[in-house]
Amino acid sequence: MTPSLPDQKAPKIFFLGIDGLSPHILNDLIQKGGLPHFTSLIENGCCGELETMRPTNSAVIWTSIITGKGKEEHGIDSFIAYRWQNRVIRKTTMKKLMKLGGRQLVQRMIRNGSIKTLPLSGDMIKVKTLFEILSEAGRKVGVINWWHSWPAEAINGFVISDRINYARWQEKYGGEHPPERLTYPSSLLDTIKSLIMLPQEVDVNSYRRFVDISGTDLEEMRTAAYRHHQLKSELKHLISLDETLRKIAFYSLSHVTGLDLFSLYFRGIDIISHCALQYSEWNRITAVDPEERRKYGKAVSSYYCYMDTVLGELLKETGHDTSLIIASDHGFVQEKNGKFGHRRSKPPGVLILSGGNFKKGKQITGATIFDLAPTILYLSGLPVARDMKGKVLKDYIQEDFVNQHPVTSVRSYGKREKKTPISPSPSVDEEIKERLKALGYIDEDA
Ligand SMILES: [Zn+2]
Repeated sequence: MTPSLPDQKAPKIFFLGIDGLSPHILNDLIQKGGLPHFTSLIENGCCGELETMRPTNSAVIWTSIITGKGKEEHGIDSFIAYRWQNRVIRKTTMKKLMKLGGRQLVQRMIRNGSIKTLPLSGDMIKVKTLFEILSEAGRKVGVINWWHSWPAEAINGFVISDRINYARWQEKYGGEHPPERLTYPSSLLDTIKSLIMLPQEVDVNSYRRFVDISGTDLEEMRTAAYRHHQLKSELKHLISLDETLRKIAFYSLSHVTGLDLFSLYFRGIDIISHCALQYSEWNRITAVDPEERRKYGKAVSSYYCYMDTVLGELLKETGHDTSLIIASDHGFVQEKNGKFGHRRSKPPGVLILSGGNFKKGKQITGATIFDLAPTILYLSGLPVARDMKGKVLKDYIQEDFVNQHPVTSVRSYGKREKKTPISPSPSVDEEIKERLKALGYIDEDA
């Protein structure tokens, strides 16, 4: 192992999350010679499947990844929760409430607006995240676009939250996004504002990179209102979101030095796979209109190529001493109904460990999403918590390092301090309050 220079520029650990990156698609494209940067990382490191969990829901899994805990402990059980008065009622609780006879009451309250749905945010995570644990131990941490990183919390380093480019969010959930705490420090927003690409700024060439369309089709893609997982409306959002992140990540890597952990998350592969795997060569079951296949058939493979190019660009800014971890929360399969997805069948994700303290050329087996938090703690020189579910992936870390650094542990890193939600709803309804109280389901913590 080469010792890090005291004035090290590149991050010690670069943790790259790529939602929905699928082992079989990645392998197929590597076989075809299409992904040079992924190929070289795998050749120089270790690679394998990453076992995931149910529900195979990205909001839940990525939070498990950075806490080492299940949804019961970290509190993120879905994409959305319900706000009633100034309380957050999680989906699990709401389901129980409905089952126990509260269905009509709840439906009435949703209709009259006294219960509102709200997308989950960072203030609802109940336990400490990897970013907070490292930061509190004096490590310098950079976080970009991680799930529930909004509202950006103060850490030793910087946070560019997952709401930095909120055009899709706003179309999806309606209303204005609160302007606060998009980054930490908040002054960082001014620095990176010019790097934010809006969906209406996506140009013709950017579209044609992923789809073969022109004329009215192109115009439709440009103007289509938000429809969940529909290629025509989603593509402009994916391109603008991931292009924004590419620029911000490159800027951060070339301007911020001495990071112990640099964490970056891309969502595009997951959404493009939901939208367009049906038109691709991986669809061998369902019938597809030949014209649609011609137009959209390359969308998924070209998105993988795009991610490979982004990866190559970012790797220029990291060093030999950087331990790179690439992980996906799940892969994709064509499920029994012919649709591509991951919710029913829990397909494994990908794990690549390359450079820095990792071994070369070893096939990864038996790794799960819960192993990432303990492994990152260990590589950062911190004790592993015994209340985390996973293990340190020592088999893939160089023996010198393992011999010199025995694994230490603490019982737990504990809960987070209570975070104040940004905009509590003021409406009151005593009936539901009493029912929830009686059932013991009032969630007091957020
Ligand atoms: Zn998905």
